Amino acid sequence: MSGDLKACIEALSGLDLDVNPATVQQKSRDLYWYSPILKRQLGAVTADFVVAPRNEDEIVRILATCWKHDVPVTVRGAGTGNYGQAMPLFGGAVLHTKHLDRIVRVGTDHMIAQPGVVIEHLEKTARESGREIRLFPSTAGTATIGGFIAGGSSGVGAIRWGGLRNPANLRRLRLVTMEEMPRVIELVGDDISKAAHAYGVNGVITEVEIPIDPASDWVDVLIGVDGFDRATELAVALGEDDTISKRMLSTFEAPIPELYFRRHGPFLVDGEAAIAMMVSRDTLPALVAHLSRLDHAHLRFRADAAEAPGKLPAVYELAWNHTTLRALRIDPSITYLQMMLPREKLAESFAAVRETFGDELMMHCEFTRFDGVVTPVGLPLVRFTSEERLEEIIMTIEAKLGLPVFNPHRVTLEEGGMKRTDVGQLEFKKQTDPKGLMNPGKMIAWTEPDWKPVPGKTFLFAK
Ligand code: FAD
Repeated sequence: MSGDLKACIEALSGLDLDVNPATVQQKSRDLYWYSPILKRQLGAVTADFVVAPRNEDEIVRILATCWKHDVPVTVRGAGTGNYGQAMPLFGGAVLHTKHLDRIVRVGTDHMIAQPGVVIEHLEKTARESGREIRLFPSTAGTATIGGFIAGGSSGVGAIRWGGLRNPANLRRLRLVTMEEMPRVIELVGDDISKAAHAYGVNGVITEVEIPIDPASDWVDVLIGVDGFDRATELAVALGEDDTISKRMLSTFEAPIPELYFRRHGPFLVDGEAAIAMMVSRDTLPALVAHLSRLDHAHLRFRADAAEAPGKLPAVYELAWNHTTLRALRIDPSITYLQMMLPREKLAESFAAVRETFGDELMMHCEFTRFDGVVTPVGLPLVRFTSEERLEEIIMTIEAKLGLPVFNPHRVTLEEGGMKRTDVGQLEFKKQTDPKGLMNPGKMIAWTEPDWKPVPGKTFLFAK
């Protein structure tokens, strides 16, 4: 698909360009290798050049030039996405947002930032004025805010605020279209969903406005629980207890904690399930009181205790997708899935998973608020043996157990997400990227608007 590359690169002279094949390949990769399937499929993917704009005018110039020469453009933040979102399947340009790293404004209830700002920096800056951001991925130390909004979905903060799909969590996006004369568009309200979690297929986000709130002093906590079902039951109760203010609530089935949370090992008890929480310091006594009434749950670690060592990772780096990362570091054969769990049938669902898969799956849940209701999302670890078996597990979970899977082993928006066309994003792409040059190969609906998923089959684009 890569059009007239030579003319394109010449026309972009004077910009921060990289055409060295080795570094271009590095910047063409994200954390796709997380998935054994994507690792095989995407290993050879590379762009033809990387361009790093210094401002919005340069983005307009890059998009107009690439449009003219039919060169695809894939935007890259920090490249921590783990579904190959930022990988240029059809070559062309990687547009790197590394120079767009300025916080534009910190208000009392909002922040405005360029897309390349690292999320941890946003949080630190908000805290300087007694505020905090609402949501961040467990990769906040390296990931960018533009990459989170375009490629992520939820994370720390979800137990208070829900995910990125909650319209209250994003105030405004500014984006540049890819046309002969690129336009700058501002999206607010419901329109934000046209470009949020769209993998950058319908424009380059150049500015984001997010809400900020009065900051709390969060304390990391680990609770050991006798049995995973009891841990889940307790997590639901703690999630619903508004006297305990929380930023994160996660549960892990044994033996995940004892096998993979090595640095916290001295505080954990073998055989116990664990709950990881971030609790506000002023409501921690309410948690302690709650636990003191139970004989099957024990506070095993609190980061503010005198005996807590100074250099432990934050508990959010045990949770979300970091659970898989910790397991992968110890056992490279581990992979994971993402699944919905019906709130009203949690114990039955876990029993069915256990009965069907034994220790091939180890449950891990993150608790969020969907429309105000505390709901777990399953991110089970899977002992990977073969691609065929992984596909079979997914089909069994969906068809036999009736639990929808958001497949993290697919590169397209539809296969990894809701398994259907997002009409709003498709219509928007027709207006903002009429030649289909932005991150091609990530939106099935662009080439097959009537696509329907076939269990066990991967949608592959012809090059
Ligand atoms: P990239 O990977 O560079 O890009 C992500 C997508 O956004 C790509 O499609 C890219 O083309 C597009 N994009 C980037 N910038 C722009 C822009 N300016 N305009 C338009 N499109 C753009 N995700 C979560 O949601 N929650 C988590 O808790 C979480 N935890 C993770 C833990 C681990 C260990 C790993 C490996 C991944 C995790 N992720 C999580 C996935 C990922 O780290 C996050 O979504 C992260 O925010 C992506 O940011 P990034 O800057 O690395 O984006």
